[in-house]
Amino acid sequence: MPKLSIRDLDIAGKKVFIRVDFNVPLENGTVTDDTRITAAIPTIQFAIDKGARIILASHLGRPKGQKNPKYSLKPVAEHLSKVLGLPVAFAQDCIGDVAASVVNSLKDGEIALLENLRFYAEEEGNDPKFSEQLASLCDLYVNDAFGTAHRAHASTAGMTKFVKQAAAGFLMERELRYLVETLANPHRPFVVILGGAKVSDKIQVIENLLKSADAILIGGAMAYTFLKARGLEVGKSLVEADKTDLAAQLEAKAKELGVNLLLPSDHMIAGGPDDGANARNVLVDATPADSMGLDIGEATCQAYAEIIGKAQTIIWNGPMGMFEKSPFDKGTRAIAQAVADASEKNNAVSIIGGGDSVAAVHESGLADKITHISTGGGATLELLAGDVLPGVAALTEK
Ligand code: AMP
Repeated sequence: MPKLSIRDLDIAGKKVFIRVDFNVPLENGTVTDDTRITAAIPTIQFAIDKGARIILASHLGRPKGQKNPKYSLKPVAEHLSKVLGLPVAFAQDCIGDVAASVVNSLKDGEIALLENLRFYAEEEGNDPKFSEQLASLCDLYVNDAFGTAHRAHASTAGMTKFVKQAAAGFLMERELRYLVETLANPHRPFVVILGGAKVSDKIQVIENLLKSADAILIGGAMAYTFLKARGLEVGKSLVEADKTDLAAQLEAKAKELGVNLLLPSDHMIAGGPDDGANARNVLVDATPADSMGLDIGEATCQAYAEIIGKAQTIIWNGPMGMFEKSPFDKGTRAIAQAVADASEKNNAVSIIGGGDSVAAVHESGLADKITHISTGGGATLELLAGDVLPGVAALTEK
């Protein structure tokens, strides 16, 4: 069901509660990475330009329902004020008289940031009273906190019952456009690249994407559970021994559906993650019992790159190897390059989700070539698994 967008709301002169994800890293009261703050700027700027009275709210860290100054959002208000070049009022509480008096003194186009929502256990508890208290501060609600949309908390779900209209902000809309709409109707060939540590984290993602993918390329440690299921020696490689039956079932399902599910044909092995000096490339059926597979091999990189090079839609989640440790970053970097090339040269729609694969494209300087880099972790995986996020379900239908 299509949901209302902030564009659909009449926000001029109204008190608009915008749930943002300002869960940023802080060191000695300074924001050290403001990616999440800048990601919310288009929505905030739109609200400023329309003359809304803007109430921003977020969580920060895990204060576990306690008012802990270590997790105060005050430094974030100061940082946001610098980014916007505008004053940002700070309310030392997110509910009650303190919050209300700051909010009620806002004029059109002005901004206030509320103190950390998770200073109240009721936030994560999705408490109806707390939800009502938050909602009493505003006329309209906007959710732009995609990274928290897989949680049914008071500020992401509960409070929408107490407002007239609840709409998606631009960041939320963009995430849904790519992770839901594009993947539901992909231009073909549609290639899925999955890596990372565990198959068990991505079972539902694989099952869901098997319905629409033309090819699924598997890398990372999760490949070893599939290889073991095929009866291959995997040495000391990371394997989920209790998931080999499942891996075999997923392979069988792929075959039945005509999806080209590929496993590495060769890989980089060593004695262990710190044995990079002795890394060597071998075929997957020639893995010595005392070695560990730590990255996809050269032939696999080439084979995967060729398939990626023909794709029109690509989704990538999870690194191809232990990319934090050189030389086991090569496979992940090669895939990042192949995805960027497909986007740049063939106009393929490329979508990357998941912290490690996102870090890899940033480190390789390829981020600006990617169509969409998701800001979510758990929320991204849940969408790829075909789930409806509580924070999205709670928004008003068009
Ligand atoms: P995930 O959180 O499931 O996306 O997994 C990411 C982690 O998997 C990273 O820390 C990688 O170092 C790790 N990883 C990927 N491939 C391997 C591998 N072949 N052996 C050990 N760890 C790996």
